[in-house]
Amino acid sequence: MIDSKIREQLVAIVGNENYDDTISGRLVYSYDATPNHQELPDAVISPKDKQDVCQILKVCNLEKIPIVARGSGSNLCGGTCPVEGGIVLLFKHMNQLLEIDKENLTVTVQPGLITQDMIKQVEAAGLFYPPDPSSMKISTIGGNISENSGGLRGLKYGVTRDYVLALEVVLPNGEMIHTGGKLAKDVAGYDLTRLFVGSEGTLGVITEATLKLIPKPESKKTMLALYQDIEAAARSVSQIIAKRIIPTTLEFLDKHTIRAVEDFAQIGLPTDVEAILLIEQDGPPEIVARDIQHIADICRSEQAVDVTVAKSDEEAEKLTTARRTALSALARLKPTTILEDATVPRSEIATMVKAINDIAIKHNVKISTFGHAGDGNLHPTCLTDVRDKDEMERVEAAFADIFAKAIDLGGTLTGEHGVGVMKSPYLEWKLGEAGIAVMKGIKEAIDPNNIMNPGKMFAKELKKRVVIGE
Ligand SMILES: Cc1cc2nc3c(=O)[nH]c(=O)nc-3n(C[C@H](O)[C@H](O)[C@H](O)COP(=O)(O)OP(=O)(O)OC[C@H]3O[C@@H](n4cnc5c(N)ncnc54)[C@H](O)[C@@H]3O)c2cc1C
Repeated sequence: MIDSKIREQLVAIVGNENYDDTISGRLVYSYDATPNHQELPDAVISPKDKQDVCQILKVCNLEKIPIVARGSGSNLCGGTCPVEGGIVLLFKHMNQLLEIDKENLTVTVQPGLITQDMIKQVEAAGLFYPPDPSSMKISTIGGNISENSGGLRGLKYGVTRDYVLALEVVLPNGEMIHTGGKLAKDVAGYDLTRLFVGSEGTLGVITEATLKLIPKPESKKTMLALYQDIEAAARSVSQIIAKRIIPTTLEFLDKHTIRAVEDFAQIGLPTDVEAILLIEQDGPPEIVARDIQHIADICRSEQAVDVTVAKSDEEAEKLTTARRTALSALARLKPTTILEDATVPRSEIATMVKAINDIAIKHNVKISTFGHAGDGNLHPTCLTDVRDKDEMERVEAAFADIFAKAIDLGGTLTGEHGVGVMKSPYLEWKLGEAGIAVMKGIKEAIDPNNIMNPGKMFAKELKKRVVIGE
């Protein structure tokens, strides 16, 4: 609850036009891209600049008001659902690209900048920022950093974490710190930059970030490999990596996903196959040509029924754009889409794909699978309806089995979508009691009043570990 005295203080900081506690304004920010989570915030505030952020946090810390920093709300873990009310903080006034430094190969941005807008500006300057989440048309850099987002190019180039050089962060008490710098080397103290990357708004508010850029690759080629046997496709992924070829992109789509994507994007994807791999390589033309030939040979030896290379940049772009639409395409089919991102070592991809199919049959639910197979990061997606309580229970049981299987195979609950509310009851399966205790210690040291995104990461109730076969 925000009483009239506190309201006055907050309005004095940001101005009336940037403080919204109307019911319609609050409703808009009561949910995010995650199904089945909704809670009203008490107010929605848009700071004009970093000084506003410092002042807002000071007031909220004193009054113990929850703060939920929000980019575009495209996260899939309930990360921006204000589960304990309080304030949703928007960055619509803090969305500028501040500098492209061509000598140090860095870009410095405000948190509300849209990822794709930044990538376009960076590429116009002849440079390259590889992390490309499928949501990049709408996601913000602040959200990408806070979720440590990955993308289609993650296999070769890594994820957001690998590009964050420096952060400006406002701590819950309103103090500002600066971590890292435009530096290739820096071992001065604990790595606070990495601590804030992926911290899901639970430790502070990021107000500025400096990101690493690299030279733009000279050329790229994109290919499709088609399979009538889903496990053969998964085996190809492991084989490509085992043969020491690291493509830029190595994406997997099963037949349900292919059909949904084709129906949505209509670019002529084959709908009579069980699975496809979308593969891209970039770099000097002669190396790209050599790798693409090797990959095609491997796919054919693993029973690919057809392998085709895109004839032009436009055709290649259509294929990758179609892949990026997979979630939106599937989401059109049923009222509720539950998408997970269990991740396993690459060598276990075939085992995991088979396990997901067996688990779907066991619980009598429909699961489509696509994802960044080269990273071991699969997106088993269940199309369902939250109003069907019986089916929802089976869906939850199926995903619990999937998490357990991923962990048994040396994997993890989430490769890129974060913990938020959704995975918090399962986090201990991955980290153990001692791991959770260390994380809680860090949280309490930085945010003793638990105002930063409360109710996320640490669950009130833990799920019992499921033993497969029980
Ligand atoms: C169609 C679709 C496709 C997707 N594809 C991918 C994908 O390929 N790879 C991937 O990794 N994810 C993907 N996602 C998930 C999501 O888009 C990413 O997690 C993205 O980084 C979230 O960005 P956002 O701006 O929407 O952040 P939000 O959802 O608004 O916030 C995410 C988290 O960041 C925190 N936060 C936001 N801004 C700040 C700040 N300034 N300071 C501190 N904390 C902050 C929030 O509190 C929250 O915990 C996809 C989602 C959708 C809907």
